[in-house]
Amino acid sequence: MGEFELIRHYFAAATCARSGGEVLLGIGDDCALLALPAGEVLAVSTDTLVETVHFPGGCDPELLAQRALGVSASDLAAMGATPIGFTLALTLPEARPSWLEAFSRGLDAMAARCAMRLLGGDTTRGPLSLTLTVFGRLPRGAALTRSGARPGDLLCVGGPLGDGAGALALVLGQRQAPPSVADALLARYWAPRPQLDLGQALRGRASAALDISDGLLGDCGHIATASGVALRIESERIPLSAPLLQLLGHEQALAAALAGGDDYLLAFTLPPDQLPSLQAQGWPVHPIGTVEAGSGVRLVDSAGAPVAFADQGYRHFSS
Ligand code: ADP
Ligand code: MG
Repeated sequence: MGEFELIRHYFAAATCARSGGEVLLGIGDDCALLALPAGEVLAVSTDTLVETVHFPGGCDPELLAQRALGVSASDLAAMGATPIGFTLALTLPEARPSWLEAFSRGLDAMAARCAMRLLGGDTTRGPLSLTLTVFGRLPRGAALTRSGARPGDLLCVGGPLGDGAGALALVLGQRQAPPSVADALLARYWAPRPQLDLGQALRGRASAALDISDGLLGDCGHIATASGVALRIESERIPLSAPLLQLLGHEQALAAALAGGDDYLLAFTLPPDQLPSLQAQGWPVHPIGTVEAGSGVRLVDSAGAPVAFADQGYRHFSS
């Protein structure tokens, strides 16, 4: 199968590749064309996933596609953007129909869940890697950046943390668990649920936001630095899921939440008067700490005493 036949069959023909909405022109020309409503701006983010670096070799292509798009869409959620679509640059060692079929099925599933269209891409031969660029829109001035946190704000997260790291141990075969524990965690890993609706609900309400990809402490450090503030996190208020606690026990579950990565839930700061209405509307908003004057991230217990924690999260290229 040639490059063009492959693109036509597995990508241009996919449900998620249909034009419509903001997409005036999709796959097939030299560029896609997007129309933005007056007064709105484009939010753009790119992520690359390389086999054996970001996902295990030989993994299920349907799950891989789902995960790749879910993880990328999470960056749109973190800005409060409404998703439009994405491009896919795919490097493949070989064009195996069964692989491509399953891959495009996974892409379609996550694209439908996130209301995103496949806008275009590039297809090359080489070691397996994917680069996804996601596009979203939002009113000018409404984006949730990392830099708006102010002393007195609450620090909140969008759900239980650490499941991604717990699941990775299962994916890599480092741990085993019965289905009652493993299924929920593996679903979180292979089909992350980017908090797109929550992100949009936080527009005009949260003072800063990001999605947690590298562990709570490290990512909160980004908010602290960008906003020029200190964050105080109460370790006992960090939500942990029942399956994670069953898999790892409390101490290691907390470590997974603090430094584990792969959660793709939102962390955000909120003026305290915004909390009641968000919670009344049923949004998953879990206060875990406060914004203070100063710098850095402090982890404390319920009595306010410092909790020592060395690992600040995953970084490429660090020794
Ligand atoms: P060009 O050489 O002009 O960049 P290509 O031959 O790379 O064009 O791609 C032809 C069309 O197919 C373009 O519209 C491109 O966006 C799309 N395309 C190529 N690869 C993919 C892919 N993996 N997924 C989605 N669209 C793709
Ligand atoms: Mg090209």
